[in-house]
Amino acid sequence: MSTTSHTSKVANKPKDTKKSFEPRILAMCCNWCSYAGADLAGTSRMTMPPNLRVIRVNCTGRIDPLFILQALEAGADGVLISGCHEGDCHYVSGNIVSKKRFLFFKKMLEEFGLGDRVDFVHVSAAEGDKWAAITTEFVERIKKLGPTPVKNVTNLSDISVDDDHSRKARIHELLVSLSNRLGYQPKKPLHFNPDEVAEGYGFPKRDPDKCIGCYACYNVCPEDAIKIEDVQNKRRYGTLHAHCLVCKECEKVCPQEAIVISPGFELLSFLLNEPLWEFEVPMQKCSECGEYFNPKPFCEHLEKKISEKKAKESLEDLHLPFKPYTTCSACKRKKLAQSVAEVAHPALKRMK
Ligand code: SF4
Ligand code: SF4
Repeated sequence: MSTTSHTSKVANKPKDTKKSFEPRILAMCCNWCSYAGADLAGTSRMTMPPNLRVIRVNCTGRIDPLFILQALEAGADGVLISGCHEGDCHYVSGNIVSKKRFLFFKKMLEEFGLGDRVDFVHVSAAEGDKWAAITTEFVERIKKLGPTPVKNVTNLSDISVDDDHSRKARIHELLVSLSNRLGYQPKKPLHFNPDEVAEGYGFPKRDPDKCIGCYACYNVCPEDAIKIEDVQNKRRYGTLHAHCLVCKECEKVCPQEAIVISPGFELLSFLLNEPLWEFEVPMQKCSECGEYFNPKPFCEHLEKKISEKKAKESLEDLHLPFKPYTTCSACKRKKLAQSVAEVAHPALKRMK
């Protein structure tokens, strides 16, 4: 079934050259159904346009979105993916996973005005005639759209990536590059529904009623995806979801069970590499210097935990020269140093 959309936001302007225009189209077919279907069309001597360069992959599940993005950046006028019918995948569900991933990226390409230039279809090994009809229709569609609007196309470069970090970074780089080459200027955030989001895309969602602002998630994140910023008397928490690999380390370490990693995507913050801010917590003022230093819920949490362990009295017995929960570290250090000096030199105390 064709997934063609006609909602392009950036105009695919037909050029004067369209009559003589012969599009260059990349097709990726699964080995077990569509490639055999294409082969059947060929051996049956069906008439087909010569504009497709067909690449055989074992399963459409092997098609990394990088392949599609890189082909478009390198100047392909269209990209066609063809796999087995649903329920017929040689690897059970490779085509379903692949199609969900494809639709996720197609939605972004629609924003850039490239949505009509990519498609995902299903062709079985026995459907040579369907392959011939689909490719003829696809080439006609691309001819009507004209040459790719991607400016200053690049040569194909090495796209080997050996881990999730490099893959996500490369996808980010390609989407930014494509949006720049197309002059795409997003005006407002574009959120994807969780069921539209491909695997590997999401970010932590924190429960503001549970979060105490303890920093544990920030300290453990291997990708520096969690952002914390102090704004006047509030501390705000957010995530750079272009960096988040949904590894769930922050979810595991949170002492309050305040984090759940949820599927999600927002195109504008992804392209700009800016954090999605989630919520703010009030800050506690230092009882000595009056500066804001820690989130209030964190100070309250510490006090409560120490009380529960019946350690509050022993802490009070220490006669510390500061209030333990409401004094910032710098003032604690200063006060301790002062009190040690006063023990060594009692005259200092008398001078105060
Ligand atoms: S680890 Fe949990 S409680 Fe601590 S700042 Fe992160 S979300 Fe909040
Ligand atoms: S899921 Fe992993 S990468 Fe994402 S914010 Fe949490 S720790 Fe960082």
